[in-house]
Amino acid sequence: MTTLPDCQALDARDPLSPLRALFHIPEGVIYLDGNSLGVMPRATAARVQAVVQEEWGVGLIRSWNTAGWFEWPQRIGDKIGRLIGAGPGQTVATDSTSVNLFKVLSLAMALQQRRAPERRTIVSERSNFPTDLYIAEALCRQHGWTLRLIDAAELPGCLGGNTGVLMLTHVNYRTGAMHDMAGITAAAHAAGALTVWDLAHSAGAVPVDLNGANADFAVGCGYKYLNGGPGAPAFAWLHPRHAAALGPDLWQPLAGWWGHAAPFAFTPNYQPAPGIGRFLCGTQPIISLAALECGVDTVLAAEPLGGMAALRAKSLALTDLFIDLVEERCAGHGLELVTPRSHAQRGSQVCLSRQTGAYAIVQALIARGVIGDFRAGDDQQPDILRFGFTPLYLSHADVWHAVEHLRQVLDSGEWQRPEFHRQHAVT
Ligand SMILES: *Cc1c(COP(=O)(O)O)cnc(C)c1O
Repeated sequence: MTTLPDCQALDARDPLSPLRALFHIPEGVIYLDGNSLGVMPRATAARVQAVVQEEWGVGLIRSWNTAGWFEWPQRIGDKIGRLIGAGPGQTVATDSTSVNLFKVLSLAMALQQRRAPERRTIVSERSNFPTDLYIAEALCRQHGWTLRLIDAAELPGCLGGNTGVLMLTHVNYRTGAMHDMAGITAAAHAAGALTVWDLAHSAGAVPVDLNGANADFAVGCGYKYLNGGPGAPAFAWLHPRHAAALGPDLWQPLAGWWGHAAPFAFTPNYQPAPGIGRFLCGTQPIISLAALECGVDTVLAAEPLGGMAALRAKSLALTDLFIDLVEERCAGHGLELVTPRSHAQRGSQVCLSRQTGAYAIVQALIARGVIGDFRAGDDQQPDILRFGFTPLYLSHADVWHAVEHLRQVLDSGEWQRPEFHRQHAVT
């Protein structure tokens, strides 16, 4: 049995514990939803205020140059790159994950059409995040391709001769299951396919090495583990070998002036910027980019303390602890572990399923200040209680208290109260 003093002793030895002070964590909240919307960094409010009052208010249009606004997508992209195994100049912070996926996937399809025009299938996982599947479906309809949905267990054998692009999310948003990026990328390449990886639940959460895995394209999210704020700009990456091979004729489909080789030449004809710059479309949301940078900086603050490897070690310790405590203290309440036990296959979240009551249990926990979330099941899987673990600001004692609240909610039947069954628009 792990006790609260055991957890407090682990916290006393935790080299990452000073990072918690970088965040504004509301009194009485144990936040297990950093995989949906990261906690606000303390630096963000003052930084956003300075951008608004000084850079915009006083600097006005001069700030595109004097405050460096024009370079922010690349500069902040390079900071994100340090977290995902990308070199400088390979990553750009811009637009939403959905929009970036549209651009990146479209370019991957165009690249594949040049090499092997008969390969016109996108393979993805049935359990992928829906927006990824919708974007892929939209592009398939436009270009006469087919979207083929498979289960993870079918990889990599399912990559047949007509697979043009394999599009996967590295860590599954529902289950927290993580793919072997290097192994699957190698198998996809051997089968003649290009890879598009979605890092929405990976960037800032687990070590990622895009160049080491020899991946082709990637996108990811700014408001989850990167703590960039609601609707923060996302990011896009492509391997330098593709960047070098993209000539003037391969355009991403949202060919706006910010992705032009010389936007301020104002020429009537589009000419894509070399490399990652062509993934920009129009004028960037500077205030949101400022908030995103504050969030990315909280993750980079772990670099002198061991960086992503140290964050990963703590994340696994926290998720292991949560699983052990739930199994010890909440036994007999019908909770099933959905997330893989194997560390190599686990992201930074833990999902529990329950045949009934999952939504109300999550609501009862939220009423107690333990914030996780709920994801509806389907004909294959029951409803899910989802708990994200951000090692930047969570302690072992937080995990102990969260499980104690869960135990009390279940033992007392508190979750059966009618107020916890009312459905909200956002779950
Ligand atoms: C969160 C998430 C998104 C979000 O996309 P938006 O365009 O920001 O709404 C996309 N894909 C995956 C896999 C996600 O987890």
